[in-house]
Amino acid sequence: MIRTTAALAILAALTTTPAAAQREQEAKVLCDGAPVQGGFLICTAAANAEPPLAMNGGTPEPIADTGFAFFPIERDATGTVEVRGHGLEPYVAEIEARDFNIQRIDGLPPSAVRARTPEEQAAVARGVALKDEAWTHRETGAWWLDGFRYPLAKDVRRSGVYGSQRILNGEPNSPHFGVDYAAATGDAILAPAAGIVVLADPDMYFEGGLVVIDHGAGVMGVFMHMSRIDVEKGEAVAAGAKIGEVGATGRATGAHLHWGVRVRGTYIDPELLMAFDPRDSATLFPAEGAAPDPGDLLPD
Ligand SMILES: [Zn+2]
Repeated sequence: MIRTTAALAILAALTTTPAAAQREQEAKVLCDGAPVQGGFLICTAAANAEPPLAMNGGTPEPIADTGFAFFPIERDATGTVEVRGHGLEPYVAEIEARDFNIQRIDGLPPSAVRARTPEEQAAVARGVALKDEAWTHRETGAWWLDGFRYPLAKDVRRSGVYGSQRILNGEPNSPHFGVDYAAATGDAILAPAAGIVVLADPDMYFEGGLVVIDHGAGVMGVFMHMSRIDVEKGEAVAAGAKIGEVGATGRATGAHLHWGVRVRGTYIDPELLMAFDPRDSATLFPAEGAAPDPGDLLPD
């Protein structure tokens, strides 16, 4: 009798504890990632995938089929980041400030910028229209759940970092919204994560050979100055697939790969993406075997 009671108590403990833990998780917005300037959060509402989640009062993002949403953090964001969902305890974190590389150069002679010819103006306008169309694209997959890998077939020197900025004669230039790799013309560029190609053009005025991949929910990889493009608009690419080759096309001073990541209008730091593997997050994937599939369109 005593033995039976003890066995029942153990059984009760085994069955109610995980359920209670799950209930607790269901009532919260769960996020992990890099809550820093130029960073990001990947969030989920555990078992309840109905309510959309919103960051800092912005546009609510519906949770993808996988149960996750991706939020970018601006380079110059300060204060707290808060992700809310209806009826859920919000996720709140302080945004960590970063020291970006700022170069001030004064006493320069006034620059003599030549006006663009009508042909150049038309080329710029054509590029703007192509990009504006690409930015509206939204894939329902969430291939960023598999993390991001290095975008080149071989290791090369990094020649530019995210967020750096030059202030010339007191006039700030636009910050560098990506990472540059000093690769050589012809080096293979590999998709850092799976996705759908939403723009592939060999002759953009600024970017030269340009490929844009939607890695899901508007998380877009942007690859510039390519000498060769091996993918087409609408094509599904697997993580690690060759998308083209490094070059010096467009407004580039030499051969390099510029890799940017634009999330619904905000450029984030690709190096922070490479440093975070969502599959290793106990917050996002608390239990063994609980990992959802990021999308059924593509092979690994
Ligand atoms: Zn660059």
